[in-house]
Amino acid sequence: MQRPAKFIYMDHAATTAVDPRVVEAMLPYFTEKYGNASSIHAAGREAHEAMENARRTVADILGAHPEEVIFTSCGTESDNLAIRGVAFASRKKGNHIITSSIEHHAVGHTCEQLEKEFGFEVTYLPVDQYGRVDPDDVGRAITDKTILITIMYANNEVGTIQPIAEIGKIARAKGIPFHTDAVQAGGTLDLNVDALNVDLLSLSAHKFYGPKGIGVLYQRRLTPLLPMQTGGGHERGRRAGTENIPYIVGLATALKLAHEHREQNNRRIAQLRDRLIKGVLDTIPDAYLTGHPADRLPNSASFVFGGVEGESILLHLDMMGVAASSGSACTSGSTEPSHVLTALGLPVEICHGSLRLTLGNENTEEDVDYVLSILPGIIHNLRALSPSYEATPVKERS
Ligand code: PLP
Repeated sequence: MQRPAKFIYMDHAATTAVDPRVVEAMLPYFTEKYGNASSIHAAGREAHEAMENARRTVADILGAHPEEVIFTSCGTESDNLAIRGVAFASRKKGNHIITSSIEHHAVGHTCEQLEKEFGFEVTYLPVDQYGRVDPDDVGRAITDKTILITIMYANNEVGTIQPIAEIGKIARAKGIPFHTDAVQAGGTLDLNVDALNVDLLSLSAHKFYGPKGIGVLYQRRLTPLLPMQTGGGHERGRRAGTENIPYIVGLATALKLAHEHREQNNRRIAQLRDRLIKGVLDTIPDAYLTGHPADRLPNSASFVFGGVEGESILLHLDMMGVAASSGSACTSGSTEPSHVLTALGLPVEICHGSLRLTLGNENTEEDVDYVLSILPGIIHNLRALSPSYEATPVKERS
């Protein structure tokens, strides 16, 4: 399949291209330095050294100790290991978990399974109209049976950043392990685990110009964690399986590059994001920004439009050479409105008209202006096909 002559990628929350510098760092570990990190011979030691260097790089960015860094196969596995691992390790203490109603399914479905199949009790906290959890709600939900709090750092659909440090403070005061899914925040926000007051934190390399299929779970020392994968003693017995050295090297290289240039990249991309948001809201009637107007990821612009289907907008944008998303890549194809948008209190009808444009390093002002030049026409034409269309009243968002 060929891409159209014009191709503008604005779906960086789904995944990113691997940075060529990352590929370069990975390559020797496929064909030359291919040892198994557990082998004691020179090739094994070479692989082991590369892995431990990568672990130190990640630990430095997290402000953590290297032995607190566990390499996993993806963000989903990190979330699963954090939640199930703590839940099963803490069963004698209690069975109550606190999470939010807008988590990625890697967290939400894991909590639901623990509830339905294993007798845990889960509190799904509401969010405000911008998608923010109130830390006081977290405090109020804690019981003497609470064994884990898991709240995402930044939302994948609407970009809202949660008050993680405040929530972490509450968890710490009660001695309850606190996990955050930082998969969307990995390349753009501060990851210092002490400043964030987190005990567990999930990352995934493909969201910050690293390869797909490699993740990290940070586990603060002494945080209870039952391994979910048993076998050899890899990752200090916490995650069995021969370590994927080229990908581990790739993850660490990508994370280092992202954090070296974080502030200047964020500044540039946030300017593009703001131009995009203003342009959309100024030129398209019955268009609403979803997520928080200020506390949002620097690259995330998300909207709902009355009277159109998100999927139709995507198809038209795609025909015009723009890759976008209606929300989470993992739920595209679903006819159900997004659980995130409904949790924001938006009317169900308008939730179907969602569009997420997520910017990245390669996007330019011209890209943004191109989208702004075609999107109003696409929405207008789609609405013209829907004779019953009337503007959907959305609660005033002061
Ligand atoms: N958590 C969040 C917030 C995500 O956005 C994603 C992926 O989109 C994941 C977890 C899952 O990560 P992975 O694709 O590495 O399994």
